[in-house]
Amino acid sequence: MLDKEGVNPSDESLEPMTDWMAALADHNARLRQQHPNEELIVVFDIDGTILDMRHMVRHVLLAYDRAHRTRAFAGLSVDDIDVHENRVGELLARLGLPEVAQQHVLGWYLDRRWSPEAVRAAHRPFRGVLDVIRWFQMQPNTRVALNSGRPESLREETLRCLNELGADSRVRFESELLMLDAQPLRKDPGRAKLEGLRTLRARGARVLAVIDNEPEVLESLRDADDTGDMLFLHAHTLFESRHSSASSVSGERYDLLSLADRRPLPGHLSLVWEGLESRDTLQAFLEAPVRWGAAPLRLDPSGRLVVRADDYDTRAWSRSERALEPRELVAELADAGKCLRVELTEGGELVDRALDLLERSGLPAERLAFHASIEQLGPAGFRHLRWAFPESTLQMPADFLAPLALSVPERARDLLDMFASWGVSRYQLDWATAQLPALIGFFEADTREVDLRGVPDLESFLRAALLQPHSLTADFRFPQWCEGELLRADERLLQLRELVPACASA
Ligand SMILES: [Mg+2]
Repeated sequence: MLDKEGVNPSDESLEPMTDWMAALADHNARLRQQHPNEELIVVFDIDGTILDMRHMVRHVLLAYDRAHRTRAFAGLSVDDIDVHENRVGELLARLGLPEVAQQHVLGWYLDRRWSPEAVRAAHRPFRGVLDVIRWFQMQPNTRVALNSGRPESLREETLRCLNELGADSRVRFESELLMLDAQPLRKDPGRAKLEGLRTLRARGARVLAVIDNEPEVLESLRDADDTGDMLFLHAHTLFESRHSSASSVSGERYDLLSLADRRPLPGHLSLVWEGLESRDTLQAFLEAPVRWGAAPLRLDPSGRLVVRADDYDTRAWSRSERALEPRELVAELADAGKCLRVELTEGGELVDRALDLLERSGLPAERLAFHASIEQLGPAGFRHLRWAFPESTLQMPADFLAPLALSVPERARDLLDMFASWGVSRYQLDWATAQLPALIGFFEADTREVDLRGVPDLESFLRAALLQPHSLTADFRFPQWCEGELLRADERLLQLRELVPACASA
């Protein structure tokens, strides 16, 4: 797994100097309003903007040690590299290498830093940048172009590696939107970027923003902008230009929260509010712009049907327990026009009792879903549910399929066919599952629906939404919404409404 935790090495502080992502979101909203039907393009530089080049520098220096059986760079970490990739000589001097060795290492480095092997090693994205790119790629009529000073000869390698990294965020880069330097011998990457931008413009694209880590490049691109449309953003990583750009908005962190806060999440996403177990939670759910709620059902020790997630070994029964009544829950949801996902904690009698309740509830089948695991229900239990409510969604947790789906997909597909024959129509995956994007891709390629759950905080919630599952299950008690000024439930709901207005109809 690649280190995606890489942060800007140039400053101890991780706070953005200005909220550049918010500025980008505002500018995007404004331009979209002015040109509702036009294609908008966001242009990213690659090296030092998307990719953290310190990894490439370290890789080539360690390769020097390996090839020469030296230990000049033993223990060198990425954080030790605090110079731009074009100024490695300064680093070598500071590391105290003898003059002759410095020259030898520098020659080796300059010869190899653009080798395909080094390019592969250099591909480590800054944290969050691929989520930001994915967010733009999901906006209607919006595309992301890459404008780089890399030579044209690295086109294939660049695309291959960026797309390998992008797969983790479901990002895809296209060759037609990759601008490279066709005349690298003139050694003027700034000129190449100017031409890249002109080429994009000449195709009729409206460029919304340009993001680059070189202030001088941004200045020259700005001078050439005769549209006034473009926002110039300086990725304040390691840069070579002497001056920082006074006329660009500068920032250090690709913060999806700042970006998405200003605009709702794109796409159609069905949200499920889980943990309907108490009156308070039910009340909050009834007021929330979320249509689906999930409630766990089980039988208490006296055989009564109750709403309760914990079993009686985990949390002992007490005489003071006042569980939410299933009948009351169902009636309230039916009245409010909400939908219910019943989480069955066991099979057998519980299923019969739950079906009996639901058949008399007035909730139509399309507003009902069921969730249960194989070991709880078995094939017969799932078939029974499907027979009783043919129109409802029938879901099972499917993380156990991950190793099979990613190594022997045809066998995993056989199992999915079997589950489908029982009536299962959606598969729940946990946010913590390894290789989740690839797994979602597998289910999607097999046209199976996916529900995601287990997101720990608001940022993960947004990132999960960018993976485009069919539904996203959460308790909406994100730390950011449960502290300080956002403690109040009504404010939390307001935030939720702003974030995902689409969910009201989903
Ligand atoms: Mg750059």
